Amino acid sequence: MNMDEVMKLDEAYLFQNYGREKVCFDHGVGEFLYDLEGKLYLDLVAGIAVCALGHAHPNIVEAVTEQVNRMIHVSNLYHIKEQAQLAETLASIMPDGLNRSMFVNSGAEANEAALKLAIKHTGRTKVLTAFNSFHGRTAAALSATGQTKYHQGFEPLLSNAFEMFDYGSEEQLKDMVNEDTAAIMLEAVQGEGGIVPSDPGFMKLARDLCDDHGALMIMDEVQTGFGRTGKMFGFEHFDIIPDVVTLAKAMGGGFPIGAMVTTDEISSTFVPGSHGTTFGGNPLGSAVANAVITTIVNEKLVERSAKLGEQWKKRISSLSCSSDVVSDVRGKGLMLGIDMGEEAKQFQHFAFKNKVLVNVCGGHVVRLVPPLIIEEESTEIFDMMFKRYLADK
Ligand code: PLP
Repeated sequence: MNMDEVMKLDEAYLFQNYGREKVCFDHGVGEFLYDLEGKLYLDLVAGIAVCALGHAHPNIVEAVTEQVNRMIHVSNLYHIKEQAQLAETLASIMPDGLNRSMFVNSGAEANEAALKLAIKHTGRTKVLTAFNSFHGRTAAALSATGQTKYHQGFEPLLSNAFEMFDYGSEEQLKDMVNEDTAAIMLEAVQGEGGIVPSDPGFMKLARDLCDDHGALMIMDEVQTGFGRTGKMFGFEHFDIIPDVVTLAKAMGGGFPIGAMVTTDEISSTFVPGSHGTTFGGNPLGSAVANAVITTIVNEKLVERSAKLGEQWKKRISSLSCSSDVVSDVRGKGLMLGIDMGEEAKQFQHFAFKNKVLVNVCGGHVVRLVPPLIIEEESTEIFDMMFKRYLADK
């Protein structure tokens, strides 16, 4: 099939709900992708912070192949060996106490599960989330998302259940938390909102307020989890331990799987029938996620993300310092954002023409979330292209 044939089918049969670049990829290796014509692209999107091990990592290939040959799926009506092993693996990388997992298929589902858990556990109905946040597209996750552009056409959703504060505003948060608050839900670094890291003091305050008022602190680590920010989980930057952590994206390295992780006590709120999913934690997803997490740990990719990300951020900042186009370079680990205002989209197209994949988040920020295995030389390919773009301005 060539590109024109793919586009023809796409236009005829698919919902037209994505703004897609005119390219179709055939295969990949490491941080590179090949299109249908065999042209090579540097992938700094990684499926939006999903392909932490890059493309076609041998450990994923092996885990998938081995598991598919034995059994893809069996219902949660039965015990699943791979799922139990995955839960143990997650407990081993979480702080003590966060040792109980439930598996789902996406980030939005992990957040839906966490919201249901918080409401049932506290017997309360209000959840506080931040403006500019992103928590997913299902009804509750969308209602929790603090960006009106995603709500348009779908209101009122579950708006009664959610109240929003400015990310970082200690006064607002203090004013809003009360005895009706079931949970405060936060991202360690707002991803879709434009790569906005949180202030440690604000996170500590959120933790304290949850403790004082009997609310749960839910950290949405869907985008920031598994080493993306240079720590295994984003909340580790703030020296706090949340009550519930939601995960997805990088967890399966591209295979759809997510999780909600919490304590023994909180998890006991859910009894048989409280929540469930057909596919969540099935043998294939669990085996793949086990291979991904084990590889991230064994290959020290968290440390790599911290070191390489810091060096890269410095280089991008120094390339940008004499430019009027860039107002800020920010982020943590290999989750970087270049605030280019109105120019961000134009730069995305320029990069695409130069066979480098980046995407824009928050409307004005060029997001760099490459595979954590990216070679340093590949980050320099971006630098050269970025330098040329700025020089032409
Ligand atoms: N939460 C965060 C922080 C996200 O960044 C995303 C997706 O970008 C989601 C939740 C939703 O995840 P999914 O698209 O897998 O439903």
